[in-house]
Amino acid sequence: MIIIDGSEGEGGGQVLRYACALALLTDTPFTIENIRGGREKPGLMRQHVTAIEAACVIGGAECSGLAVGSNSISFRPGRVTPGDYHFAVGTAGSTGLVLQTILVPLMTADAPSRLVIEGGTHAMAAPPFDFIERTLLPVINRMGPTVSARLVRHGFFPRGGGRIEVDIVPAPLRPVECIERGARRGVSVTAIVAGIPVDVAERELRTARKTLPEWPEGAFVTRQVPAEQGPGNALLVEAEFEHVTEIISGFGKLGLPAERLAQTAAKRMAGYLASDAFAGPYLQDQMLLPMAFARGGAFTTVKPSEHMRTAASLIERFTGTRFRVSDRDDGRHLVEVIA
Ligand code: AMP
Repeated sequence: MIIIDGSEGEGGGQVLRYACALALLTDTPFTIENIRGGREKPGLMRQHVTAIEAACVIGGAECSGLAVGSNSISFRPGRVTPGDYHFAVGTAGSTGLVLQTILVPLMTADAPSRLVIEGGTHAMAAPPFDFIERTLLPVINRMGPTVSARLVRHGFFPRGGGRIEVDIVPAPLRPVECIERGARRGVSVTAIVAGIPVDVAERELRTARKTLPEWPEGAFVTRQVPAEQGPGNALLVEAEFEHVTEIISGFGKLGLPAERLAQTAAKRMAGYLASDAFAGPYLQDQMLLPMAFARGGAFTTVKPSEHMRTAASLIERFTGTRFRVSDRDDGRHLVEVIA
């Protein structure tokens, strides 16, 4: 039984999600206390409960203490059973983060799975659908499995109601070297609006153009989503390279000027482009779990995040697999599995 202090390191929901995944992958029970102790409102939120329930369902696991607001759970894994599953968060809680909890166990299972997940698809502090589809899954697929995802409906904060479908064909994981991005193939900035004035999208695109002046005019596009999927607004700043696609996102909310949102996202993209690294600020922590089970591989990244350091130390506790993070002379950081 592993005992985890959920306030350590990043102290957020990721510790919980990765602990469930690791428990299923290594057949190790765990107890976590001080859940999301590093967050303003600690304890389980609806989306975390759904993620843990999903882990219980696919993994025949038992969990005590599972309720919204709970600060501690005990999780005892069973057998991972691939199949057709449907999970609904019931709020705008992230569909992508429910997927983050069960993806690696299902992609190393002995048969395919099909998932339908309902909730938020474009909401704060979580990977938007586009990041999952075009940033994360291509890297996962290079490791062996075939995972594809479709966006059926957008879901924004606070209404949710989005829907994604994911097909998973498992395969043994093989190590990958993700050092260079390769040649640049294309760039785009997409302002998504659903049921809010198109002028918001236009202001975002105008602002982003000022920060990324060398990007071609045709790269800046507005995508109007049917109003019944809103209200909502998201900005996706995307750069596709030969070996990786980076998507930096921003999400509209009341009181946050469209210009500020766009400037922050565009500046982050400018920083990523200047770094020459493979992984941006969010891909780095999401690569660790599959890499640990591939028992090898390496990637370059922008500055290591607290999410990544926290994930690395949790993975080490469950598997004994360690990661070495080193600074390179070219300013990039190298992350290697040193099993
Ligand atoms: P936590 O904050 O502990 O709930 O974890 C959030 C997870 O979502 C981490 O795996 C982050 O890498 C990921 N994440 C948060 N924001 C984004 C974003 N804008 N794009 C992609 N991934 C994100």
